[in-house]
Formats: sequence, structure tokens, C-alpha cells
Amino acid sequence: MHPSPVQGLGGFATRPIARGTRVIEYTGERITHAEADARYDDARMPRHHTFLFTVDRLTVIDAAVGGSAARFLNHSCEPNCAPVVESGRVYIETGRDIRPGEELTYDYAYGREGGADEEQAEHYACRCGARRCRGTLLSPRRSRGG
Ligand SMILES: [Zn+2]
Repeated sequence: MHPSPVQGLGGFATRPIARGTRVIEYTGERITHAEADARYDDARMPRHHTFLFTVDRLTVIDAAVGGSAARFLNHSCEPNCAPVVESGRVYIETGRDIRPGEELTYDYAYGREGGADEEQAEHYACRCGARRCRGTLLSPRRSRGG
């Protein structure tokens, strides 16, 4: 294994990273959606703040339990990385060349099904500062099946 090209809270590149590089796998405990719902009661949190990644209809990865540093990557509406799901595993892949010191981000694009709706807008408010920030961590409407 190479040393991680990602360092620190927020996930900063420690060296140049070429476009299309899988920089880190998003790991953690693999649980069901029901278990995730039981663990985290969104309605009781002032802001959405968990380390969950939805793999598919059956599986959620809870990176709070033995998860990799991928859980520290922040959301951006204009991200430089994107998650790639392959055979049930999740990798964070760069969408362009990254310079040392750049923060790696990806679009959380939380699904709107399962109760993540407009009524909870403040839970999912985005303040990423991108020029085209859409103001929410929720996925753009109907863009990502799921
Ligand atoms: Zn944003």
C-alpha cells in the first residue's frame, strides 16, 4: 500500500493526484437502511451529521464504525471527486487533476426518498460556497435514481 494521498479533517491532498484516481475506499460497518434509521434520528439533530453512505437499496455503510478517512471528505456542489460504486464497494475517485493542498470534495447527493425532503431543508442546508451551490446536500431532483 502507498501512504494515503489524503490527510486531515476535510481531506486534503498531500501530493498531486491525477484525474481518475481512486484515492480512498469509503469503508465502515455495512448495515441495512433500517439499522441506519434506528441509529440516527435525523429529526432530533440540528443539522444532518452522520457518516452514512448509501450503497444501494439494501446496504448503507456507517463510517462512524471503523470507517476509513473517506468519512472526513466534505460535500461540495462543485466537487473535484465523485464516489464510484463497484461490486458493492465504494471508492472516491478524482474527477480532475488535484494539486497538493487542495481539499477533496464530492457531492453527497443524499436521496430524497426515505424522508429526506424539503421539510427538513435546514438539516441538509449546504454552505459550500461554490458559485453554483444549490443550497442543499440533497441530490438534484431526479438525477440519481437510487
Ligand atoms: Zn453547496
